[in-house]
Amino acid sequence: MTPDTAPDITPDTAPDHSPEAISAQNAGAASAQDVASEDDVEAVRRQGKIRISEIFGPTVQGEGALLGMPTVFVRTGGCDFRCSWCDTLYAVDPTFRADWLPMDATAILDRVKQLSNNQPILITLSGGNPAIQPLAPLIQLGQQQGFTFAIETQGSIARKWFATLDHLTLSPKPPSSGTVFNANDLAACIAAARSPAATGTTPPLPHPALPSP
Ligand code: SF4
Repeated sequence: MTPDTAPDITPDTAPDHSPEAISAQNAGAASAQDVASEDDVEAVRRQGKIRISEIFGPTVQGEGALLGMPTVFVRTGGCDFRCSWCDTLYAVDPTFRADWLPMDATAILDRVKQLSNNQPILITLSGGNPAIQPLAPLIQLGQQQGFTFAIETQGSIARKWFATLDHLTLSPKPPSSGTVFNANDLAACIAAARSPAATGTTPPLPHPALPSP
């Protein structure tokens, strides 16, 4: 497979995700500071880097289909939503932008390997919304080294590289979040993950066996 290191910055199936459109769609996102934050994401992305809020682990996935799975979390900075009850504002609110370190794929994997004692492990990409970051090179490089990848995203932005993930977790936000649910965006994410490009990637991890009663 030919490495594709060019950042994938174009949502292939999602509709307009310009800052203006995001502001119009999401009741909680309209400040000028938020729009500036998305501009900043773009500037870092052009450098082929990913804005990292934190990398931590190994820990145990505490929710979803991968519940109980050992994993290292890579949390990216920046989100196109502003949910009213968001519990990771330090990875969303632009006032924390100075804490988000631009890192390339190699630097991120080096940090993960430090934490995992050089053992290939499940890497969970979270945020913020990791789908706004250029994660294709990280996933490709990591899989070449035996890592597997899961992503957690609200399903607002579809990416071609979803097809290369080992696991895609979509968590659409309900009305209580103050954001507008868009079924078409969610469907686009599912379609992207199921595209033919998915063939040839690392097979899904088996779910860990439950302990005997
Ligand atoms: S989508 Fe997730 S990270 Fe973004 S504001 Fe909502 S709860 Fe927070």
